[in-house]
Amino acid sequence: MGELPKTAASLRAHVEAILRDREIAEAAMEARLLLENFAGLSRLSLIAYADAEVGEEKLAALELALKRRLAGEPVHRIIGHRQFYGLDLALSKETLEPRPDTEILVDRVLAYLEKLVESQKPCTVLDIGTGTGAICLAILSQFPVASGVGVDISQDALATAARNSRLLGLEKRFTALHSDCFEMVEGRFDAIVSNPPYIPSADIEGLQPEVRDFDPLQALDGGIDGLVFYRKIAEQSAHYLKPGGIVAVEIGFDQRDSVTAIFTEHGWECLEAAQDLSGHERVLIF
Ligand code: GLN
Repeated sequence: MGELPKTAASLRAHVEAILRDREIAEAAMEARLLLENFAGLSRLSLIAYADAEVGEEKLAALELALKRRLAGEPVHRIIGHRQFYGLDLALSKETLEPRPDTEILVDRVLAYLEKLVESQKPCTVLDIGTGTGAICLAILSQFPVASGVGVDISQDALATAARNSRLLGLEKRFTALHSDCFEMVEGRFDAIVSNPPYIPSADIEGLQPEVRDFDPLQALDGGIDGLVFYRKIAEQSAHYLKPGGIVAVEIGFDQRDSVTAIFTEHGWECLEAAQDLSGHERVLIF
């Protein structure tokens, strides 16, 4: 890596070049994130203070972060947070990194809630396997009359979801509930949403190292066929849904038919399948 240059603009260029050298696709964006988080240099200050010298401590912190990146750790894990639906969400050891594809689920649920709930009437959302709280908090941030319960089996994830709700000023409308799926859930909801673990256990070994080595196994492993959580949701959701409510789930790129079959078997009607950015059916609404 060599010695890092000390002035802001050349430091940015140098970090970007190192990342590009390693064939990291979003080198410019990642360099910007690393500089912002470890050298205190925002996009603006890089322009305004291009020739300013960066202190030794910051340089050392940046160098350490860069080493982690070059060892394969995803940039958002290193900085400890990631943007999702315009919200900045803290990550922790047991939370999945929220992904852009999941924003489609949020979009579709918002569209349904708008139709479902006449303006100003309160509505409620249940998020099974909430992780960082991403889906539920994004919905609450867009829908000021909504409140939500985020369920997770991981206490670490729940603490992170609760913290995110406070950082976003949504804590009055968000409840973090420790529960194995529906076990501790009470009441009925307008929408039940979930991006459950859906990778078949045997396929985990073959995932990209950035996912396999850094996202929590518990958030990925969907059991022997990857469908364990869809079965639970299809079996139990009816008891927790208000009349006219919907269930919205994210699915793996090739799981449309199998997940639809599971829900149909339990008497659900598929209302919509929405595609992700690469054209795979990624979200199903029942
Ligand atoms: N619901 C969270 C998300 O979409 C966590 C999902 C998971 O851990 N499988 O980011």
